[in-house]
This record gives sequence, structure tokens and C-alpha cells, in this order.
Amino acid sequence: SGTAEAALLQHLCRKLRASGPVTVAEYMREALTNPAQGYYTRRGSIGDSGDFITSPEISQVFGELIGIWYISEWMAMGKPNTFQLVELGPGRGTLTEDILRVFNQLSSVLSKCDVSVHLVEVSPKLCEIQARMLTGGKVQPNPEDESAYMKGFSKTGIPIFWYRDIQDVPPGYSFYLAHEFFDALPIHKFQRTEKGWREVLVDIDPEVPDQLRFVLSPSSTPATENFIQPEERRDHVEVCPEAGVIVQRLACRIEKDGGAALVADYGHDGTKTDTFRGFRNHKLHDVLSAPGTADLTADVDFSYLRKMTQERTTTLGPIKQREFLKNMGIDLRLQVLLQNSHDTATREQLLHSYDMLMNPEKMGDCFNFFALLPHHRLVHADKKDKPESKSSSPPVAGFNELLLK
Ligand code: SAH
Repeated sequence: SGTAEAALLQHLCRKLRASGPVTVAEYMREALTNPAQGYYTRRGSIGDSGDFITSPEISQVFGELIGIWYISEWMAMGKPNTFQLVELGPGRGTLTEDILRVFNQLSSVLSKCDVSVHLVEVSPKLCEIQARMLTGGKVQPNPEDESAYMKGFSKTGIPIFWYRDIQDVPPGYSFYLAHEFFDALPIHKFQRTEKGWREVLVDIDPEVPDQLRFVLSPSSTPATENFIQPEERRDHVEVCPEAGVIVQRLACRIEKDGGAALVADYGHDGTKTDTFRGFRNHKLHDVLSAPGTADLTADVDFSYLRKMTQERTTTLGPIKQREFLKNMGIDLRLQVLLQNSHDTATREQLLHSYDMLMNPEKMGDCFNFFALLPHHRLVHADKKDKPESKSSSPPVAGFNELLLK
């Protein structure tokens, strides 16, 4: 509604008038997750009718192949008798739903394994949608002494817990998933000038009432000192410290308790410059206008994520979505679905969604897959070092061809 939209802008303007310009990170945090008026808090309109569409919403095949990735890793790691599936920013819950369907279809393989689902979600609105999707709405708020704020059971009886922060998820062998999560976290922006690095800030435009504009910090800031590498060659740099902290946590947890993390997002390997943008009704939207009404996002810098693992884990990727999905067997899966569908509309839908996911001009090239794995997962892969070892680990699916049998 118009008044709600204006409320966040008013709140920001008051703040800017009182205490001066804020970092882009602070602006982005307010616009997306302000507890009362943030974009994700209030709406988070994902899907056909929303502001943006994501791969799991396009095709069930996407989530199914990711489910197979976890099972293949679980097998490669010697089938531990329990694991947690931990998803960061689950959106509508579609991806987890598709993964759980695969787990159910392969229940003979997973039969003796105790699986639980742990969702990290800040938006009450999306958490409600997830609960409806995954449990049919049968959830209960959790007592205060437990770290989860809500719990329920999937249709197949798997326990599901909700948290606000990854730190609240209990330790244990875990498979982590972050699909289009890191791109929604707040970034700092920096500009090289003749006088050195300056941070890009958000301020009120003095010429136009209630309009925001970008300004440069008059001098260097703690962020310019901490986040710009001395060897940096670009003139404009975006850094997402919150993503760094979360990856660090994932790396520590995987090093200590085992498991793996799969990160899928649009991004680059430390080469791009200005990628901060907004989406509303599937159209580009000025990031500074009507905060709280549009999704704000920035490309994920995978080289930064890799650095933030501090070599606690091995990393694989980023590789392009179309290569990852091809390696996971998407072509074969499409053939099977086409053979099993007898009406033209369904077949056309299948071909259309395949094209959306795989076409280099659509999502095939700009989306990437990136994984964190314990060092020991890949240690035996090179047989030359251990010619006597018969139990060399299989290659990691997706990043290599799937060899699951
Ligand atoms: N993974 C889903 C949704 C992507 S949108 C998909 O691909 O369709 C980003 C998701 O991250 C939303 O669920 C949003 O509410 C959540 N989110 C954003 N910032 C967050 C934060 N700081 N902590 C936890 N979840 C967050």
C-alpha cells in the first residue's frame, strides 16, 4: 500500500537528516529486512506473479537434481546415519519441497538415515508460506528455551525447524544450501578517486524533497581500510561482509562436524564492478526509489567467499548453472519427463523451463554453483599418491559428471 511504502522512506529520511549519510549496506538492510517495512519482511513476492522468479520456481527438475547431489555426497562420504539439511533463505520453500520428494523417492537408499530439515529465514511472511508448502500449515511455535522459533513435520514425517540465524542451528553433520541467498545480503560499495578509495553512501537529495541519492564519503572510512585489498585493480568494488561471515561459519561447521555446502547464485569471481540493482514486477527498478517495494540485489563475489573459508574446507567452482545441471543429468531427466507426459501443454512447459534454466542467454550462464567440502573428501581422488588405495573417493557430482549407481 502507498502509505506503507512511504513509511520506510520517511523513516530513512528522518534517520539521514538526524545523523547523516548511511552506507549502502545499511540502506540495503533497511530496505530488505527492516522488521516492519522491509521488502522480504512484508512481501518477498517470488514467482510468476511476484517481482522476480528463481530456478526452483521454474522447474521441479532443478530441486530434484540438487536433492540427488546431496544423496550422492552422502554416499561418497560413507553414508553417515544422520544428517541435517540446512537451507538459508528458503523463499517459498519450493526447493526444499522438491529435495524432500527426491529423498522420499530414494527412501530405500536413505532408509536407515535420520534426516531433519533446518530453515534459516528472517521473514515472518515467507516463513508462513514455507510452513504451508512443507507441512500443510501444521506447525507450532517453539518454546523460548529452544533455538528454533517454529517447528513442524513434512508430509513424509521429517521434522522441520525454523531459525533466524545460522548460529542457532544445532551443530552436527549437515548439508547446507544457499540458493539466491547471498545476493540478498547487504553490500558495501567503494569508488576509486584521485584522492584514494572512498565509500559510496546514501543521502537525501537537497534539491528534491524525500528523494535519495548516492554520495561519496569525504575521506576514507573503516570499511575502505578493511575491505579493499592493496592489489585491487578495479575502480569500483562491492563487498558483502555478511556473506563473508556466514561462509566462515559454514566452513567452520563443515570442518568440525562434516557435510557439505552448495551455493547457487548469480555472480562473478572477483571481476565485476557495479552490480547493485533492484527488481519490481520482473523489471529493473531504481535502487533508491521507494525502498521496501523492490528486491535489491548484488552479484555474489565467489572469490571473496573462497577467501573467507580460510582454507578450512576445499572449494569447488564457481561453475555455470548449465554445466552443473548437465553434469547432474538434466538431459536424461528431461527425456524421461517428456516420455511420461502425453499432453502438448505439459511437454511445451517442460521444454520452456529447460530452456530458461540452461540457455546461456537466460539463466544458464549467469548463475553459478559453488561448493564447500571437507578436505578429506577430495584427498584420495588422486590415485597417483596412493596407488595401493582401492577406496579412492568418487568425483564430486555436478562439478564432474554424475557417476551415481
Ligand atoms: N532460495 C529461494 C529464495 C531466494 S530470496 C529461491 O531461490 O527461490 C532470498 C531469501 O532469503 C528469502 O527467503 C529472504 O527472506 C531470505 N533472507 C534475506 N535476508 C536474510 C537474512 N539476513 N537471514 C535469513 N534469511 C534472509
